[in-house]
Amino acid sequence: MANRVQLLGYNIDTFDFESAVDYAKSISGQVVTINPEMMSNPDMKDIVNSAELVVPDGIGVQLGLMICGYKVKRIAGVEFAHRMVMEAAKDGQSVALIGAKPEVVGKASENLKKEFPNLYITYVQDGYFTDTERVLNELKIRQPRLVLCALGSPKQDMFIAEAKKYLPNSLFIGVGGSFDVWSGYVKRAPEIYRKLCLEWLYRTVKEPQRFKRIFPTLPLFVLRVLKERFVPRGV
Ligand code: UDP
Repeated sequence: MANRVQLLGYNIDTFDFESAVDYAKSISGQVVTINPEMMSNPDMKDIVNSAELVVPDGIGVQLGLMICGYKVKRIAGVEFAHRMVMEAAKDGQSVALIGAKPEVVGKASENLKKEFPNLYITYVQDGYFTDTERVLNELKIRQPRLVLCALGSPKQDMFIAEAKKYLPNSLFIGVGGSFDVWSGYVKRAPEIYRKLCLEWLYRTVKEPQRFKRIFPTLPLFVLRVLKERFVPRGV
């Protein structure tokens, strides 16, 4: 069952993977797979707290929750989104893919259709559009059940917060770099890194420019959580 907790003023739902999937299938609206970077961006707070489902993605949030006394398993956004695509294919529901470079989203769409022959992808749009109105109109016409947005954060989350107003029956998930993985252009970390919760280390070694993004964000995030947990208010 869901158990919504707060970390640094952000709502987080502490479902396990299977319950998160079941719950997501039963709702419409916005799914955020939250990480410490998002929780360090003040623009994200209202969006996260208005989201219908917030799943803890990554070791940073898991650690933060642990410091606050919540034992929660992380849910990798890329795996969660993949499973939701599988469920859509199984249930005959339509899917839209928005984001990443044109060749990436095209290839991701092709690979998903190969993997799930029953999958109905009703709309494919790369993530470098400037005419948001047009993309919103395409979505309004097609009304896909599942909309995956891979525009990076906070862009994807802001886009979803706007788009969900016009598609009351759709489920939107911000999926970050998932299309890069599904297209085969980017490899996920090998199993051993994932088991040891070191996927971030693998990605940083492969893409050293990511170091700037996780450092100092991650240590500062942990310090903020420690302060919230152990330093009395007003100090
Ligand atoms: N992206 C996009 N439009 C933009 C900026 C980024 O479609 O204006 C895409 C980018 O091509 C990549 C994804 O957004 O496919 C973000 O990937 P990233 O690895 O930054 O995501 P995260 O680390 O947040 O999962």
